[in-house]
Amino acid sequence: MLLVSAIDLGPSTHPHPQASRGWVTLNSTTLAFLRQVYREYYFRHADAIEFPDDVDAREFGYIPFGGYMVRHLSFKSEGEAIAEILRQSPSSAYCSNARYEHPAAPIEEKGWLGAELIFDIDATDIPTQCKKSHDVWYCEKCHFSGKQPRPQKCTNCDGPTADIHGTCEVCLGAARAHALRVIDFLTTDFGVTHEAIRLYFSGNRGYHLQVYDERFYLLNQLGRAEVAGYIMGPPSPGDQSFLLPAKQGGSPPIMEEAGWTRRVGEHVEAQREPGRSAKKMIADTIASQMARIDASVTTDIHRIFRLAGTLHGTTGMSKMRVVSADNFNSLKDPVVLSERRVLIKVDFYPRFRMNDRDFGPFSSETAELPAYAAVPMLTRGLAEVA
Ligand SMILES: [Zn+2]
Ligand SMILES: [Zn+2]
Repeated sequence: MLLVSAIDLGPSTHPHPQASRGWVTLNSTTLAFLRQVYREYYFRHADAIEFPDDVDAREFGYIPFGGYMVRHLSFKSEGEAIAEILRQSPSSAYCSNARYEHPAAPIEEKGWLGAELIFDIDATDIPTQCKKSHDVWYCEKCHFSGKQPRPQKCTNCDGPTADIHGTCEVCLGAARAHALRVIDFLTTDFGVTHEAIRLYFSGNRGYHLQVYDERFYLLNQLGRAEVAGYIMGPPSPGDQSFLLPAKQGGSPPIMEEAGWTRRVGEHVEAQREPGRSAKKMIADTIASQMARIDASVTTDIHRIFRLAGTLHGTTGMSKMRVVSADNFNSLKDPVVLSERRVLIKVDFYPRFRMNDRDFGPFSSETAELPAYAAVPMLTRGLAEVA
């Protein structure tokens, strides 16, 4: 039986990528198309949905196409959850990293039993040179567009603005590198086994990690903030207080120490050359080792996190398990929606790459495209089904 104890309609609930877009109202033909394409996928690939352990202790949530976030749902089994996903064919589906006594109760009454440690790494947060060339902003009201940086209000009509980040191998490669750094911290510095770490492509422009190591389950927000802070390195490059003090008297070489001390020791040793200041070498080491994670995700113990194997609400790509980071093609492998062609009217959309093919740029035109390529334009309200 489906238990619904509360439905959040307020924009303060997160994550709510669609609900926040006040101006995006999709017409009924477009909404029907999106629901149909997502439903088709779930009917064929329900077995791709990957549930965490203890499904009956998890909180679930979803965002329907054209609607607001619904959360505080619980299911007795994977089968029940799949049935509901098939019935709703939602824009996005989420599941808590926490286990609860009463997962469908309001937050204060859920009875928190612990949560896996999670990480979110997004290319948007990693500075790359190429962003200037492929990121644009657009107006959600009049669909005017321009180059970054994005103005708060549309320069044409004062309407609300949003970003379109390009689908770029350099940016996605940077996100992957940072995800691998997190894995290195977890395995080398925290003693987590590789088997306990699940790496996922996020379905958009980054990676998620879920850590099934019991030692972290009961960690509170402050403890999680410490883990996040450690992985992100010192807040300012000049701050070296995180380094372990060298042992007094006949101290062993610094590289025999653990954690950041060892990392800095090894890397400074490797870069040592006449004229380079120690301070600069330490700063370079930190920059090359730290991982840019979204600390607010790691510290949130009541998070509902995108359910693995489900579709992203904007891109239509799958949040997909990555078994081998070296062999994963983030512009192709997660493109799982139908190739069925659809005629759409596009107001504006920049050039993008999906499934090893280039599309666009588009400007006030009608185009016939595979469903997977039409979806990101339709969900953003920049195109409609013709
Ligand atoms: Zn505008
Ligand atoms: Zn890029």
